[in-house]
Amino acid sequence: MSYGLAQCGSCRRPRIIDLSKKASVCPYCGTESRTDMISVFYRSESQEAVREALAQATSFIPLDALEKRKKIAEADPYSTMVYRYEHCSDLNGKMVILAEGLTEIKGTFTMDDVREIAGDRAEKMVSAMLDRCIIFEVRHGVYRA
Ligand SMILES: [Zn+2]
Repeated sequence: MSYGLAQCGSCRRPRIIDLSKKASVCPYCGTESRTDMISVFYRSESQEAVREALAQATSFIPLDALEKRKKIAEADPYSTMVYRYEHCSDLNGKMVILAEGLTEIKGTFTMDDVREIAGDRAEKMVSAMLDRCIIFEVRHGVYRA
């Protein structure tokens, strides 16, 4: 048995084909292609390896990776928040993640807590969060969402 990562000649979507078969039908558009006519980017005896290559090609996250991430989230909400913060590209989103995350984990937080995650941007972020009513100051220098 041998599997390949190929691209459908018709709809261009990446998919896994069984190279031991003469033809394969695209699950997305239904086009049947001859296996020897499809360009194969990656081939392996292991279906698992090809599936991983497909996952990278489509940036689809395999279920077990999602499960792992969920376990990390349950075990360590702080790292999860930092991870979400770092992977959020929009500033407003980052502020909401920080404000809600820190409030959930610590109850209230200070500039130092923000600085640990946001570094030099901490002061600007805190004043922007106050401006946008994402957080409020419960007492001097202590904030919550
Ligand atoms: Zn197709």
